[in-house]
Amino acid sequence: MIFDLSSFLDGHKHSYHLDGELESKLLPKDSDIRIINPIKFDGDIFKVDSEYQIHVNICYTYESNCDRCLESTTNEAKTVLSGKLKESKGKTIDEDDDEEIIYYDENDLLDLDSYIWSQVVSSLPMKVLCSKDCKGLCPQCGVNLNTQSCDCMGYTIDPRLEKLKELFPKK
Ligand SMILES: [Zn+2]
Ligand SMILES: [Zn+2]
Repeated sequence: MIFDLSSFLDGHKHSYHLDGELESKLLPKDSDIRIINPIKFDGDIFKVDSEYQIHVNICYTYESNCDRCLESTTNEAKTVLSGKLKESKGKTIDEDDDEEIIYYDENDLLDLDSYIWSQVVSSLPMKVLCSKDCKGLCPQCGVNLNTQSCDCMGYTIDPRLEKLKELFPKK
């Protein structure tokens, strides 16, 4: 989404409101996360002395497989894009601070999509769980312990007895 900042930059207002939606793009192939459309954002640009600060709340929904039980799960996530707003013309290679800089072009147009998208990508979780207390799969028989139970847990077979068990197979 492109915002025309010309009247704000030339005017006397202290803030400029931004909101909108954007389409999800494809994530790198090795990611099994899928971001569900649309990604929503809502924020403001503030004029602070002679500088501009941008702060945008981003909200999105993603689908992935739970790391423990492997079931598909959908979660909501929030992240924030914030930094300084500058004109791209004055862009220098080594800006002296660590703050993120968001550039608008020489026509005072701000294209936020790529900034929002990269913020979403960098906020994706490393580990996805369907719930905080997902019980996962039984390491012995593989049943989903959230929905089923089994008799495997609670005792582990001594490897020396394992051999004996083979001699006396269960009926
Ligand atoms: Zn799970
Ligand atoms: Zn089991």
